[in-house]
Amino acid sequence: MSAEDFRRYGHQVVDWIADYLSHPEQYPVFSRNLPGQLKKAIPPQAPERGEAMEALLDDLDRIVVPGVTHWNHPGFFAYFATSGSAPGILGEMLSAAFNVNAMLWRTSPSATELEEVTLEWLRQLMGLPESFDGVIYDTASISTLCAIAAAREAAGLNIREMGVEAAGARLRMYASEHVHSSVDKSAITLGIGQTSLRKIPSDSEYRMKTAALEDAIKEDRSNGWHPFCVVATTGTTSSTSIDPVSPIADICEREGLWLHVDAAYGGFAAVVPEMRWVLEGAERGDSLVVNPHKGLFVPLDLSILYCRRMNVLRNAFSLVPEYLRTGESEEVKNFMDYGPQLGRRFRALKFWFVMRYFGAEGLRSRVRHQINLAREFAEWVDQSDKFERMAPVPFSLVCFRARPQGHFTEDGLNAINERLMNEVNARGKVYMSHTKLSGKLTLRFAIGNIRTTREHVRMAWDELNQVLEGIKIDD
Ligand SMILES: *Cc1c(COP(=O)(O)O)cnc(C)c1O
Repeated sequence: MSAEDFRRYGHQVVDWIADYLSHPEQYPVFSRNLPGQLKKAIPPQAPERGEAMEALLDDLDRIVVPGVTHWNHPGFFAYFATSGSAPGILGEMLSAAFNVNAMLWRTSPSATELEEVTLEWLRQLMGLPESFDGVIYDTASISTLCAIAAAREAAGLNIREMGVEAAGARLRMYASEHVHSSVDKSAITLGIGQTSLRKIPSDSEYRMKTAALEDAIKEDRSNGWHPFCVVATTGTTSSTSIDPVSPIADICEREGLWLHVDAAYGGFAAVVPEMRWVLEGAERGDSLVVNPHKGLFVPLDLSILYCRRMNVLRNAFSLVPEYLRTGESEEVKNFMDYGPQLGRRFRALKFWFVMRYFGAEGLRSRVRHQINLAREFAEWVDQSDKFERMAPVPFSLVCFRARPQGHFTEDGLNAINERLMNEVNARGKVYMSHTKLSGKLTLRFAIGNIRTTREHVRMAWDELNQVLEGIKIDD
């Protein structure tokens, strides 16, 4: 493509993005596509001859957009609502343009050093101690996988070389029953097996019971297991509950276990000074994951693993073939040494753009605003005689369900709530998701979109009330 054409189409694409981001509400928030709809609209083979950009851009509107679920829509309250911000999108464009591979320092010094700079900036904003260094990966799932690989390395069984079976160890790690599935997947991927993950029961507010953790470790040791790691969660995925990290850290210290803190969702709230408490005890962790792509308006993907024992992480993975040996390895970081992948994107650029554009103050005020909106929504739930709250609201997620007047079985309430969610979502203005807490179908209302205002939250509440009214009339 000539520079002239690139400029022309580039302007068109940027215009398209600017229009899209100024009116995401023109689309239903979640896609109405049927399964296979997009595939049917596209030829089964790649075109033999190149096509005009005009045709491509037309098909973007015609074929792609209808199949997009609009995470940018201010009525998106499902999962953990996230949104990339404009400065992040511009940073992403530039890193696509540079297209460097940040495997070694010398393969692009700026990529490596900006990674170090942004990690350090966020560390300070979150109030984590200087002993934490880190590395950027794509997702929290991979950050956690690498942390558990480091924990396995720290167990000193030489599994890296011998494999699990040859090392003769029945490894065991611990996490609450509400832990994210990425920890189960790490056990699968690292070959230590799902039975190596022992789930610890939680209390009435979905926090790990530390006495049960201690008992489990003791029992396992006497049965010949080799405990090596505990994963504590700050902001669980179902309900954003916060495990008691300090007492868990005491146990880990006493037992010599690696403590990994999954703060993928909860960690970024600590940029708000009055929320610092959510990371209490986390400073004693060996590693901690936080996802700027979840709550800090950085476009997917960008996850950070902070680690106090980077040498152990390095020992878990470093393997330098001759053709990648460089003279400066002593003075610089070669990030390929800290994970399974060789090639690495220049992710820090978009993060640097976001932090500079908003400033610490801008990030703080936005995160604080979302937490306040969630508290207000929770108050409406608490004051209503048709809804009830299902969990505390430490962050910007509200877990609740409809509980109309009258006698209903739990199954009946589950059915009402499922119908309520589906009908609200089908109206296209609001999108919510669900979980189960103690067997009860629970609606999750997650505020995290940068464009969500109080009016959108109010509108969602009105939608819920209107739809629930209709359901009662029908029944
Ligand atoms: C979202 C989330 C994850 C997974 O994050 P990915 O970046 O999608 O892998 C892990 N743990 C917790 C607590 C989360 O909220």
